[in-house]
This record gives sequence, structure tokens and C-alpha cells, in this order.
Amino acid sequence: MSSVKENINNILNYLTKLQTKKSKEVRIIAVSKKQPVEKISEAIESGLVNFGESYVQEAVKKIIHFSHVKQICWHFLGPIQSNKTKLIAEHFDWVQSVDRIKILEKLNHHRPNHLAPLNVLIQININDEASKSGIHKEELSKLIENVQKYRNLKLRGIMAIPRRENNPREQAYTFESLFNLFETHRKNNPDFNILSMGMSNDWEKAIHFGSNMVRIGTSIFGERDS
Ligand SMILES: *Cc1c(COP(=O)(O)O)cnc(C)c1O
Repeated sequence: MSSVKENINNILNYLTKLQTKKSKEVRIIAVSKKQPVEKISEAIESGLVNFGESYVQEAVKKIIHFSHVKQICWHFLGPIQSNKTKLIAEHFDWVQSVDRIKILEKLNHHRPNHLAPLNVLIQININDEASKSGIHKEELSKLIENVQKYRNLKLRGIMAIPRRENNPREQAYTFESLFNLFETHRKNNPDFNILSMGMSNDWEKAIHFGSNMVRIGTSIFGERDS
């Protein structure tokens, strides 16, 4: 089994080889949910600074554990219950899984004034799967209008978890529709510049189709503890 450092170097080498302007802008989120702090330390030593977590209690413990490492940005990726919005707003730098106005309102309310605005991505349920959070893509404009009024939030873009797809044409179609949605809204909003798509099984493809933020768990850290 390869080490966390080897896995990260392989990913970084891939990005370097792309050698396009685009590849330089791709941010890697190391998804560390259900992974021990020792592995997170290894990833930090390899130069990663963005970490993704999905369970609030577990995440807050880790965030406090690494509070001396100032460069780390913590991203919340999991479904959001409204009674967890306070902890999320107090501890995270980014929230990628927002799909309701009520949650926006609560995150804005609970974001401490001494912190920078919370970076928000709206989750899009691109394949309309009942098992996944996220809004229909047609609902995005309305949600965007609502975010503008929240002074403690900064809308940065969209996030999606496309269905695992073996048919390359179907996969391309999904990635393209996300990219088009992103481009449409990017035009009117300078802060709106993040398309978060791509995970361990599809991140190279996602970058090919214009993703500039990939969320990689298993391919960096190995299998998660269940
Ligand atoms: C767990 C998770 C990931 C990472 O998944 P891997 O397949 O392990 O890379 C990425 N994004 C979200 C939203 C997740 O919940």
C-alpha cells in the first residue's frame, strides 16, 4: 500500500504534467473524514492545506487539534442539519453542501463577526438522485439572489457529486452541464469562481471538463474507518 505522501505526490505530478494555466488553478481538497490525525499530519507535511470533513463533531475535534497550523482551510462537505449550523459557522472556512435558504440564513446568523465571511458553495443534485442532497440546477438563480443579502457569507460557486458513471458519454454530459451552469453564473459575479467536482474515482476527468476544485479522500488516505 502506498503512503499518503506518495499518493499526494502522484496527484501533484499529474497536475504539473497537465502544464496548462487551468491545472495551476486546481485546488485539491484532501477529504479526511473518518481518517486519523496522523494521516492529516502527513498530508500537511506534503504541502496540502485544504481539508474536507463531513461529520461535525468529528471535524471540530480535528480542527481544534490542528488550530496551531494557521494555513489550513477546513471545508464542510456533509449534509447540514440546522442544529449544526452554529458549530459549522464557528469552525469552518468553507461550506460546500448548502442547499436551502434556511441553512444560509442560519450560517450567516452564527458566523462570528471577527472571522472573514464564510465561503459558500451551493450543492447541485445534478442527476436528481433521491439519495443525495442538493438543489435542481433550475433553482440556482433564486438561491443566488438570496445569498447576496447575507453579509457574513461569500458565495463562491457550486459543488456536485455526480453519479458514478461507467458510460463515458453520460459522464461527459453530466460534467458539461455542471460546467455550463457554473459559467453562466460566473459571468455576473467575480467571487463566484469555484466549480467543485471530482472525487477519487473521477477527478482527472472532472478537471478535463473544467473543474477547479477536486475533493479526494480514498486516493490520498486509503480506505476510511467504518
Ligand atoms: C467522502 C466525500 C468525498 C471523497 O470521496 P472519495 O471517493 O474517498 O475520494 C468527496 N466529496 C464529498 C462530498 C464526500 O462526502
